Amino acid sequence: MGNIIKVQKGTKDILPQEMGLWYKMEDNARRIFTNAGYGEIRTPIFEATELFARGVGDTTDIVNKEMYTFEKSERSLTLRPENTAGVVRSYIENGMHRISAPVKLWYKGPMFRYERPQAGRQRQFHQVGVEMFGIKDSTADAEIIELAVSYLNSLGLNDLEVEINSLGCPECRENFKKTLKEVLKPYYNDLCDDCKTRYEKNPLRLLDCKVESCKNIFEKPEVKSVIQGDFICDECAEHFNELKSYLDVLGIKYTVNKLLVRGLDYYNRTVFEIKSNNLGSQNAVCGGGRYDTLVSNLGGQETPAIGFAMGMERLYSLLEKEDESKLDAFVVSTDKKEALKLVKYLRDNNIKTDFDFNAKKFTKQMEKASKVSKYAVILGEDEISSGKVSVKNLETSEQITVDKTEVISSLK
Ligand code: ATP
Ligand code: MG
Repeated sequence: MGNIIKVQKGTKDILPQEMGLWYKMEDNARRIFTNAGYGEIRTPIFEATELFARGVGDTTDIVNKEMYTFEKSERSLTLRPENTAGVVRSYIENGMHRISAPVKLWYKGPMFRYERPQAGRQRQFHQVGVEMFGIKDSTADAEIIELAVSYLNSLGLNDLEVEINSLGCPECRENFKKTLKEVLKPYYNDLCDDCKTRYEKNPLRLLDCKVESCKNIFEKPEVKSVIQGDFICDECAEHFNELKSYLDVLGIKYTVNKLLVRGLDYYNRTVFEIKSNNLGSQNAVCGGGRYDTLVSNLGGQETPAIGFAMGMERLYSLLEKEDESKLDAFVVSTDKKEALKLVKYLRDNNIKTDFDFNAKKFTKQMEKASKVSKYAVILGEDEISSGKVSVKNLETSEQITVDKTEVISSLK
């Protein structure tokens, strides 16, 4: 006998008894996003490595540490760590700028990041997300955030914190980066190694640091006043104020979190995160934001865009677990031919049904039925000779005998 091969660290099987909730997450996404005019897009699992280097940003953890990259025929390929870059590639490649704006797309599927596995953090995980192209107006930002909240509410998730922030445009951000670097300069040596690199390459990302000693530096009065100050230009401020007023009319509660910069390089203006109060340290279920420069950076026409992604495993862990495994009906009969016919008839009528393939003793079959099904549909000798079936409720033990033609209605 060979060794048992186990599932890879940071990956998981999703088993049949868990599938009910996965269907629910997927069905609700399809319904809610379709209603809002979003079409589903399915892009490949692997793409050119360069797409992520350029599209996600080469100062990000994702690109620097977390990508599954491999080579085939001298090409560098990468398993997608997120889906925005792939969707943007497809938008450009398929000339979707020719469609009148907005172009609205949604997706779901597996993503891959080489991270340290822990609760709420896997190496293969699933995201569901949306992207909207072509609208600069802050009504688009409002729609995207509203859509995320509606979707979460549809899953029964209501205890949510919506955090928003504006990163401004590349111009106003330049000033902020300069000021931030100046005020942090005296603390440079106390920053963690990652932050030292960020200080040089992308100072905004400093604010995203989770290391306690760095967080303490951001609490120093003079640093804090820079972070909490208003650095964004008038136009960006107006965009942000409009967004807040739209969220107000939609009745969406939010807080402004000036430390929220998000892990990806491409965001500008609006960024947001939705946290659940019922998750532990990995409490972000949704992250999103505006990325008005990404399409042109990847070679397309200048196109404003905004979107979000949610982690489905984190959603799953929040959902009320329901037992979906029980059958509606278990056919009990010692006559295999009659059993096969009745099982087919019930299934054709959308009754979730199974039976005993080996046609064991009647009492054994009834025992099995009680374990796996809500009802037993019994075809004994008496029933067969009189063209009837007995339907037994296995919770209450109530039993009725009906004409074969009435079996469906009596089960429903
Ligand atoms: P985090 O701060 O939790 O690392 P992130 O900023 O890397 O999140 P995004 O890239 O914005 O996350 O992805 C959006 C969502 O996808 C997250 O809010 C989270 O719910 C989920 N997610 C991200 N990475 C993982 C992972 N390794 N395992 C499970 N879910 C994940
Ligand atoms: Mg991350």
